[in-house]
Amino acid sequence: MANTTAELEALLMQRSLTDAQLLTAAEASADFKILPEATVIKIGGQSVIDRGRAGLYPLVDEIVAARKNHQLLIGTGAGTRARHLYSIAAGLNLPAGVLSQLGASVADQNAAMLGQLLSKYGISTVSGAGMSAVPLYLAEVNAVIFSGMPPYSLWMRPAAEGVIPPYRTDAGCFLLAEQFGCKAMIFVKDENGLYTANPKTSKDATFIPKISVDEMKARGLHDSILEFPMLDLLMAARHVRQVQVINGLVPGNLTRALSGEHVGTIITAS
Ligand code: ADP
Ligand code: MG
Repeated sequence: MANTTAELEALLMQRSLTDAQLLTAAEASADFKILPEATVIKIGGQSVIDRGRAGLYPLVDEIVAARKNHQLLIGTGAGTRARHLYSIAAGLNLPAGVLSQLGASVADQNAAMLGQLLSKYGISTVSGAGMSAVPLYLAEVNAVIFSGMPPYSLWMRPAAEGVIPPYRTDAGCFLLAEQFGCKAMIFVKDENGLYTANPKTSKDATFIPKISVDEMKARGLHDSILEFPMLDLLMAARHVRQVQVINGLVPGNLTRALSGEHVGTIITAS
């Protein structure tokens, strides 16, 4: 299209912002990757951080070694304390937006603790993972820590049912990877990846090394190892078209995944 900008501008002045022709014209401009060399890693709340020292110390060592070769945006989950808050707040009939704020405060606490552990290596926690100084931290020390909850806060879109915020830290970390056009998104949890059923409760669950979102839904696995609204975010993504879920309790897994090895389960958009 010779005159894309002019055409788009004309459409923007005249049409609804969800007009089909307008959306097609907007789509015609090339995608721009803001931080294409960075990888987002999410450190699970319940699955890893809640284990305290046993879960975190070995990962800290791996992160410190890995950041020599990789740019890392490190997001934190919330976990058991958030679940406790959700149960109290839901019992009080408080809305999703309030629960979202409560959950965010726990992800913040986890980011603060991880930040203390990584301080002596020059790795800082940023409050709010918006641009601010993130590129500078990456340029200087190859890593930065952020709190994984998306900042929807009181404006959290409620789920169809119930008051639990549907977009939590899996979604928050993924959206950051996608917005920044990052190289990869790795979820660090406490199981080897996706299984045919929850391995904590099903002894005969079998491991699935690679699967698409459609296949996950067809097999009834959409509500399992990742927050399920995440899967639709992945399907709609432009940059990050697959995510990797790994067992961070196995030493070396994170390093191998960062080097592009197929560790754990790879979930693909299509
Ligand atoms: P996070 O700590 O990042 O919030 P979660 O605890 O929410 O992680 O999610 C990871 C957990 O998901 C695993 O510990 C596992 O018990 C559970 N899970 C449920 N269904 C499955 C499944 N089909 N395959 C693997 N894990 C599953
Ligand atoms: Mg979770």
